[in-house]
Amino acid sequence: MGSMKEATFKINPNFRLTTNYLSVSWHLVDLYILQCEVPIAMQDRYVYNQDILVQYHDGLIDIVYHSGTDFESRKVQKWLRELFRDLILRVAKDILPERVRYWENMKNLHGSGVTVKRLRKNILGQCSFTNHITLQPFLVIFKQEWMDGVILHEMAHYKYKHHRKSFWNFLSTLIGEDSKMAKVKDDIAISPYYNYYLYLTKN
Ligand SMILES: [Zn+2]
Repeated sequence: MGSMKEATFKINPNFRLTTNYLSVSWHLVDLYILQCEVPIAMQDRYVYNQDILVQYHDGLIDIVYHSGTDFESRKVQKWLRELFRDLILRVAKDILPERVRYWENMKNLHGSGVTVKRLRKNILGQCSFTNHITLQPFLVIFKQEWMDGVILHEMAHYKYKHHRKSFWNFLSTLIGEDSKMAKVKDDIAISPYYNYYLYLTKN
């Protein structure tokens, strides 16, 4: 796949994001409609000049724009990227700890808590010696089996603080039938989307 440069990423109406927890819809309207909507303050409504209106509701991001909206503008890109970063973090803080609790109950294996925050580039999640899990926010826009694979990997560290054979054996028993989840961290690292996820959530 080669490495993708950040410069190739653009958030514009060609950008698609549809996952279990976060989806984006684009709406092209006439300028005057946008001008009427912009002054109306609503919860979770974000406005860029008279060019873009973003309404967030329950995992759905509606983006309204007009034919003159300049998505090539660096300021527009920066504004959109920061908005996405903040919305992804917010949804991640909601969903990921809940998903860890779900698996903890399913597997009857309990840790000491979950933190969701941006970690260093190549780290998807980590588990401390006190069994506290920290997860990257962008896991929330991964496909479900990847999200679950990373969570179960970190939970396996509740018992084994290393990556020796006993760890992988234990992870296999946790994952059971679903072998697709076993090497999920490798799958993610080679995914062409990986740099894109990083781009969307960088600080
Ligand atoms: Zn590990």
